[in-house]
Amino acid sequence: MNSQFVPGMDYRGLVAEYGSPLLVLDQAAVRHQYRSLQAALPGVTLHYALKPLPHMGVVETLKAEGACFDLATNGEVDLMRDAQIDPNDCIHTHPIKRDSDIRHALEFGCNVFVFDNPVELHKFVAYRHQARLLLRVSFPNPETKVDLSKKFGCTPDRVLPLLREAQALGIDVIGLSFHVGSQVPNARRHVEAIEACNGLLRQAEAEGMPLQVLDIGGGFPVDYSGATFDIGTFCAPIRAALANTPEGIRLLAEPGRFISAPAMTSISSVMGKAERFGRTWYYLDDGLYGSYSGQLFDHIDYPKSAPYAKGERQASVLAGPTCDSIDVIADEIMLPELDVGDLVIGGMMGAYTWASATEFNFFRRANILVIDSDASALKAVA
Ligand SMILES: *Cc1c(COP(=O)(O)O)cnc(C)c1O
Repeated sequence: MNSQFVPGMDYRGLVAEYGSPLLVLDQAAVRHQYRSLQAALPGVTLHYALKPLPHMGVVETLKAEGACFDLATNGEVDLMRDAQIDPNDCIHTHPIKRDSDIRHALEFGCNVFVFDNPVELHKFVAYRHQARLLLRVSFPNPETKVDLSKKFGCTPDRVLPLLREAQALGIDVIGLSFHVGSQVPNARRHVEAIEACNGLLRQAEAEGMPLQVLDIGGGFPVDYSGATFDIGTFCAPIRAALANTPEGIRLLAEPGRFISAPAMTSISSVMGKAERFGRTWYYLDDGLYGSYSGQLFDHIDYPKSAPYAKGERQASVLAGPTCDSIDVIADEIMLPELDVGDLVIGGMMGAYTWASATEFNFFRRANILVIDSDASALKAVA
């Protein structure tokens, strides 16, 4: 689903009832995204990475679809427990953990973890009868906007030495994982990483350390311009590379953004307006420190519109509510004249938005209203 805005949604009615700013989470979009990625990656178990939108409305929908989950923190463990997710459907993918984090996940019942270095490996000596590990390998990706390979993962040449060290410690390493970076422009890095891992899996087998799992991470992109984007076509080279993975290897992926980005729409209201430097400035009740935080942290320019305003468009400025001068979400956007109370809609705002919003200046994070446009049912404000 790449419609930027849910068709026929009565934004004014929603704000009248639930207040502004508001984020509308459409479970139908979550369902659609999950099903289309699953169809694009047959035979791959999808673990939704909670980080971009750790919200019960998403988790419930995916649980009903039979999805698995990728968690990384104690708070995410607690969300899984609250949603009564089977811990065997969860993997813990933070490469760096405190001992107390490991215990928290084990107490919940999640026993697959990720490591990428000897210090982390040694933390599992105490839990070697319960925990099974994935070794995260890094494949640097200068092409992506968010290159996760700088911060985590061992270089491919470290894989066999780390597997040997684990074996000597009696720790069960069951497979390899990687994350090529978020919102990748094409599948090239996934393919290169899969090919490299295919080789490493064969080498490990040849050395008598057979592995069972290859986890290809996240990174699957969405089209923020609202153009149609076919995930099946995007994944075709990935499917071809996975066809060469050694027989018997279980395949996992950790999609985050792809599942949640199209599922949430932001509604904010004009609090005030002023003429400055020949432009009309509109001050909204949500901004860079709130739902639009992804413009800063995630480098995304969300599609914005003022669907109820009429008249000639002019270059305008959209600013957030805080007293900080960087809190501007669009410094040159063509909009009809808006009045105080008019609504501005942001599309594709489900990933890395609410999740990274702050309450700077004590402006509360937007409430999330859960709807299901398949069932035309309003759920609850979280
Ligand atoms: C953030 C993250 C993901 C999700 O990445 P997307 O690009 O949103 O799909 C998956 N796995 C790990 C380990 C992550 O840190």
